[in-house]
Amino acid sequence: MKLTNCLECGNLCVESLTNLCPKCMRAEEDAEERVAEYLRNIARASVEEIHQATGVKHRVILRMLKRGRLFTDAIISYPCETCGAPITEGRVCNSCNRNIVSQLKPAAEEWKPEKRPESVRKDEQMYTKDMIQQKR
Ligand SMILES: [Zn+2]
Ligand SMILES: [Zn+2]
Repeated sequence: MKLTNCLECGNLCVESLTNLCPKCMRAEEDAEERVAEYLRNIARASVEEIHQATGVKHRVILRMLKRGRLFTDAIISYPCETCGAPITEGRVCNSCNRNIVSQLKPAAEEWKPEKRPESVRKDEQMYTKDMIQQKR
């Protein structure tokens, strides 16, 4: 049996799937019930709205979501991990996702324009020839 610190209160407890001590586990089950009760008559809610209605802490609600503990048909939105915009799946919103992709792009594109410097050089050569011809 391994010991760990309770995720909520930091007291030593037996390591488990939840890593919560018995006291906090009971509180969490309680919170789950309250949240489930609230979501029963609702189609869509944000973590903030659930928090306002039930008093359950944001991170507890997020933990429930991540663990799939909320059996509900309601669409629950939670903040994007990067910008805080409301999202309903994944960890970041679409625009942050695009940003992450575009931040990765330049490094990949450095390998592409191999022919460009050559054509620039040709233009320069033609330009200097023209200038020489003009001088003659
Ligand atoms: Zn605890
Ligand atoms: Zn975002």
